[in-house]
Amino acid sequence: MADVQEIVLKGDTAVGVRLKDGQTFNAKQIISAAGVQSTIRRLLPAHVQAQPWAQEVANLRPASAHVCLYIGFKGDISTAGASSANKWFYDTWSMEFDAWDVSDPDNLTSAEILYCSFPSLKDPNHDPGPEQRHTGEVVTFVPWETFERWQQRKWRKRGDDYDDFKAKIQAVLLEQLLTHMPELRGMVDYVELSTPLSTETFCRPVRGSIYGIEPTPERFAVDALRPASPIKQLYFAGSEITSVGVIGAMMGGVMAAVAAEPMGTIKYLRKMPRRG
Ligand SMILES: Cc1cc2nc3c(=O)[nH]c(=O)nc-3n(C[C@H](O)[C@H](O)[C@H](O)COP(=O)(O)OP(=O)(O)OC[C@H]3O[C@@H](n4cnc5c(N)ncnc54)[C@H](O)[C@@H]3O)c2cc1C
Repeated sequence: MADVQEIVLKGDTAVGVRLKDGQTFNAKQIISAAGVQSTIRRLLPAHVQAQPWAQEVANLRPASAHVCLYIGFKGDISTAGASSANKWFYDTWSMEFDAWDVSDPDNLTSAEILYCSFPSLKDPNHDPGPEQRHTGEVVTFVPWETFERWQQRKWRKRGDDYDDFKAKIQAVLLEQLLTHMPELRGMVDYVELSTPLSTETFCRPVRGSIYGIEPTPERFAVDALRPASPIKQLYFAGSEITSVGVIGAMMGGVMAAVAAEPMGTIKYLRKMPRRG
């Protein structure tokens, strides 16, 4: 992975990026798809972070963090109610519900919301083999603050207290899934839980957020969340300049390309072969 340490500025213009290994790459235009908040807080120098536009973005709340149970199955899960569709299980009618309270791991209630998906059933090229190997994901939202105390510890070395905490959450979520879909019970072969710290370590959104900046009306009114940033020759891509999710991320890429290279992008789009 080419890990970017900072965006290099000359005066008020972006001129390149410096990687963690010390290499520097110069370019006429820089497009950051690392998330706007992440770019401001981690990749731009302190005097830029202090500018009003940067402060305005940095002060927006990130959306909730999440935990995800990754499950390996052996067996034909399509006979147990799984399909290529996502399943959402709600134990609450509250429209304001934000995150599952996991602050007391010894007295966990069930998670109010479960999102379950079976990625191997969505992949037409997946070969389950003779053992019928399949995958599942169970996601629910949790507060970042509950996990923050382990943030300074390294991946896989966060300590027994963290592993124990994870094991308790994992047990509750797995049992909850198997209560909703009991026929999966005999097919579970492998289970591993990711926490907001895993998200922060590997994907690096601010505070392990699942959807980047919270999609509030205030967010969409912020002028700096646009593809052309206030820094000359620095552009933003990704979902934070459009809207949450993978379609937002895709449109963020299109908008950044149009902002950085309008004519080139239009030529490219016009030359794209038609399907079918
Ligand atoms: C478990 C889960 C399930 C989801 N399910 C759905 C779904 O069903 N539908 C949906 O629409 N959305 C879903 N989402 C949300 C969706 O994945 C995100 O909204 C989307 O990926 C955001 O895209 P992005 O390009 O803006 O940011 P990201 O996908 O976060 O990409 C940012 C990239 O920048 C890289 N990066 C960050 N900092 C640096 C650096 N310093 N140097 C180099 N690289 C860096 C990161 O590693 C990352 O690859 C889900 C998210 C999760 C976590």
